[in-house]
Amino acid sequence: MSLPPTGSAAAASTHAAPGDAMGLAPRCYALVPCAGSGQRAGPGGPKQYRAVAGQPVVAHTLAALAAVERITATLVVLSPDDAQFDRAVAGVDRERTWTARCGGATRAASVSAGLAELIARGAQPHDWVLVHDAARCLVTPALIDRLIDACWPDEVGGLLALPLADTLKDATPGGRVAATLDRSGKWAAQTPQMFRLGLLRPALARAGEAVTDEASAIEALGHAPLLVRGALDNFKLTWPDDFALAERLLRAQAV
Ligand code: C5P
Repeated sequence: MSLPPTGSAAAASTHAAPGDAMGLAPRCYALVPCAGSGQRAGPGGPKQYRAVAGQPVVAHTLAALAAVERITATLVVLSPDDAQFDRAVAGVDRERTWTARCGGATRAASVSAGLAELIARGAQPHDWVLVHDAARCLVTPALIDRLIDACWPDEVGGLLALPLADTLKDATPGGRVAATLDRSGKWAAQTPQMFRLGLLRPALARAGEAVTDEASAIEALGHAPLLVRGALDNFKLTWPDDFALAERLLRAQAV
């Protein structure tokens, strides 16, 4: 089976993957949940709108996705009362960047609502969806391409992830070590996570709102998503100190 060559927009519509209904070529969509309040990041408003390296976090994220030509469009899921997105992404290509104010109370609810919106806009069950956190603004087009290249021929799909390098500790509520866990064979999940719409939607509906990533919903159906090596830089801004680190890394990327 032939893959769409990296960086080719036309290729995404000229190659079919196995099992595609009536031989129609699958497309790739990105879905960016951007409706969280980011409370672990401390004061300063939702983390996806805080400025790093001269731009809001989500603007960096969307620029990386927009640079991947195989992505037909990116749907950004906003909170129904979002008042910051339009100002935050003034420079982003709005033709291929869509929004929907359908964010929910959890990340899983926001992603599920976004999938319904993609269907309403014509996405088909055999199309691929790359779900990517707005708050992971150090993702690069090369990493996204690596994930697409690896997952495109796969029956299940997969995710960017990194093998755990550090020794893993279980903690007591009082902040002491309860146990040292075996880190061998353990990976830390990142995003994007790439699955077919027709598999991901029922998987999330069945898994409920507690899942924190798409892969765990797919796993609950008995599938084994592909682990594709991510990068340390592709971390999710979560804690107050993460913004200064992201600033340094983004400025270094720019030189
Ligand atoms: O809170 P957490 O770090 O897990 O959020 C990951 C991503 O999911 C962020 O981009 C955040 O905006 C998004 N999210 C969402 N809806 C929620 C919670 C989080 O879109 N209810």
